Amino acid sequence: MSIKKISFIPICAGLLFFVSCNQVSKTDVTLKDYGAESTVLNIEAYTLTNSHFRTALWTGTKLQATVMTIPVGGDVGLEKHPDTDQFLRIEEGKAEVVMGDTEQSLTFVKTAEKDFAIFVPAGKWHNIINTGDKPLKLYSIYSPVEHPHSTVHLTQEEAEEAEHQFFTTNYFHMNIDLIQLPYATNALEPAISKQTIEFHYGKHLQGYVNNLSNLLKGTELENANLETIVKQSDGAVFNNAGQILNHNLYFLQFSPKGGGKPSGRLAQAIDAAWGTFENFQKEFETAGAGLFGSGWVWLAADKNGKLSITKELNAGNPITKGLKPLLTFDVWEHAYYLDYQNRRADHLKSLWAIVDWKTVESRY
Ligand code: MN
Repeated sequence: MSIKKISFIPICAGLLFFVSCNQVSKTDVTLKDYGAESTVLNIEAYTLTNSHFRTALWTGTKLQATVMTIPVGGDVGLEKHPDTDQFLRIEEGKAEVVMGDTEQSLTFVKTAEKDFAIFVPAGKWHNIINTGDKPLKLYSIYSPVEHPHSTVHLTQEEAEEAEHQFFTTNYFHMNIDLIQLPYATNALEPAISKQTIEFHYGKHLQGYVNNLSNLLKGTELENANLETIVKQSDGAVFNNAGQILNHNLYFLQFSPKGGGKPSGRLAQAIDAAWGTFENFQKEFETAGAGLFGSGWVWLAADKNGKLSITKELNAGNPITKGLKPLLTFDVWEHAYYLDYQNRRADHLKSLWAIVDWKTVESRY
């Protein structure tokens, strides 16, 4: 899993006899995301070794550390995190730090350099500009987590592209690992039986996770997030990655307390597209029942929020067409055959009772 393994040997400038280096003389630096594991490392060595724009170093449930390198003349990028506090520490280089309440009024301006800490409150526009003559090396701590586990952005351009992905922050299912179900295996009965969940989640989804993990070993997509893998792959990798993303969206959209109707913006957009929620349901069921063979029926949104129902064969997902997936019903036989045998339409109708519209709305 390691991205880069380098023996870090600190270079101590100045008079050889009088300089003592704080670091241990030789540190093995393995740049990777250590996840939510107990970890002790020499963060200065890691920060100085990192040459990527951003590498996630530790991703817990409420806090994340990343290391960053800003090239000469570059900057972090003007941005704000509405609900995230950020701490940064410069290990090498010189910077100008700007912050403000709007993009136009960056009235807070300070210079900072090696050993300086920068605190950015949630909701503040901020940028850090490399004003020195060597790469600016810093580490950043976010609370809550800001980037998907194992994020690596080689360049700022790549980081900005990632901002335009559909699933960015706090989407733990963007990792390829098997998701945890937020309910008991029997909690969705009678719409989906315990036995179906045990096979569908425990065997089928687990199988896709195992396959993908094996397929990605040693490839350039090994550390990519699930959305990137789905968008950039074909063949067996696409089939397994697509099935993981689809099933994650599917299983996480259900709740034993589900049912009812959507509200807010999503409800308005459904009414705008289909007249009523009931008409939408009818068309969604018809699309799912009419899909020939194995696949998925989706409610998806375009860049302007306009909704559509799409049918995708096999592992297909509307993100490959530039649409954002919101809701999906699995029409592979493995999703319903134990409970409904050949009665696919009856199964699809039963799923409305467990749709958690708050989750679906949060994707919109
Ligand atoms: Mn399935």
